[in-house]
Amino acid sequence: MLKVYNSLTQQKENFIPNEAGKVKMYVCGVTVYDYCHLGHARTYTAFDVISRYLRWHGYDVTYVRNITDIDDKIINRANENKEDFQALVARFTQAMNEDFKALGLIQPTHEPKATDVIAEIIALIETLIANNHAYVASNGDVYYDVRRFSSYGCLAHRDIDKLESGARVEINDVKRDPLDFVLWKIAKPGEPKWNSPWGEGRPGWHIECSAMSTKVLGDTFDIHGGGKDLIFPHHENEIAQSEAASGKKFVNTWMHAGYLQIDKEKMSKSLGNFLTIRDALKDHAPEVLRYFLITSHYRSPLQYSESTIQQSRNALERFYTALRGLPETEALSDSEFEKKFTTAMDDDFNTPVAFSVLFELAHEIQRLRETDLAAAAAHGALLKKLGDVLGILQDNPERFLQSGKESSDDDIKKIEALIAARNKARAEKNWAEADKVRAELAAMSVVLEDGANGTTWKVG
Ligand SMILES: [Zn+2]
Repeated sequence: MLKVYNSLTQQKENFIPNEAGKVKMYVCGVTVYDYCHLGHARTYTAFDVISRYLRWHGYDVTYVRNITDIDDKIINRANENKEDFQALVARFTQAMNEDFKALGLIQPTHEPKATDVIAEIIALIETLIANNHAYVASNGDVYYDVRRFSSYGCLAHRDIDKLESGARVEINDVKRDPLDFVLWKIAKPGEPKWNSPWGEGRPGWHIECSAMSTKVLGDTFDIHGGGKDLIFPHHENEIAQSEAASGKKFVNTWMHAGYLQIDKEKMSKSLGNFLTIRDALKDHAPEVLRYFLITSHYRSPLQYSESTIQQSRNALERFYTALRGLPETEALSDSEFEKKFTTAMDDDFNTPVAFSVLFELAHEIQRLRETDLAAAAAHGALLKKLGDVLGILQDNPERFLQSGKESSDDDIKKIEALIAARNKARAEKNWAEADKVRAELAAMSVVLEDGANGTTWKVG
């Protein structure tokens, strides 16, 4: 039985979807005004593993991850660049797709954009005004009236008065309550705008997600996810808007990924301590980065450092070394390893325990390799199958082991030419030449292993 931690109830619960066999999941996507950083990578890799495991479990998963393509940050950045906001959005959407593909993220089932649901947003705001949950303020903007929603604070687990004392009170505020948030913003001259019953303007951020999620998944759906920083106010506000409009429960299970930290601080654009995915990919193989991102439990903080990345590379080398040279075969069925893996993942997607099972499996492969190659191969195929659930171990073992972080395709060609030269020298019993070439390879940190089937190598 799959158990999932629900941020709303603050406990692990048996996961029972609304419709048997089907899971409807929405994850708040990226506001596309800059390159994605490793904090984004952490969140979306976590939900990628979650969606893969749900599918592996046999569920028909509809995974929706939106794109926020209109927002103050986008407008400000486009103005700074003297660029049209749509050109900026197109550029960074493409960059995001490239980065996510490199990390092995499976494309979501639907990827709605905020500007595609303006009509739905307007209809939602009209409903909220009609049932007195929203009001037009003196400056023309439309606000949500938090005091009219009795369970406001249910996800943050804070009383509305406590939340209010922490809220920033702006000067000349036109709101009834400092926690009230904007649903429709009247456009200033030169800003992107859409027609609405309240004048030309644009939607607020929170209402976008309520409109996009319910448009695709219906009024009530199974899982809503995002980074922990979205719990308050973003997800709290989504609940308030959606439930006030529909009168139904919005989401059954709220899931939140922990922070990626550098020096114990959250990695974020606002703190300026972020590393973009593409910068990290300059120094590290994509699979190493992906492995690092899923090593800690998705709700726990994850510490970024060069040494944790190196540990991830070492771990993958152990797995690929176990897989190396095994004949292709069917995966072992009914295995204790698979049962233990499933038990770990059924416990709120516990990847650290799942990895420990994969390490046991790799150890078993190495033990069997000497005595029973067929059994080793069946265990190897199982390791690959379980690795796929986590989005790892699908590379060719030789290729992975030979692609050190410094190795480009040119390096690999050069290394292979040197190995061929050394083999030729050895065949000709020209030991001096063979040793010279070996030393040259050692200088490139290449470790050679001469075996019965020829020479293999890896970057040490
Ligand atoms: Zn959202």
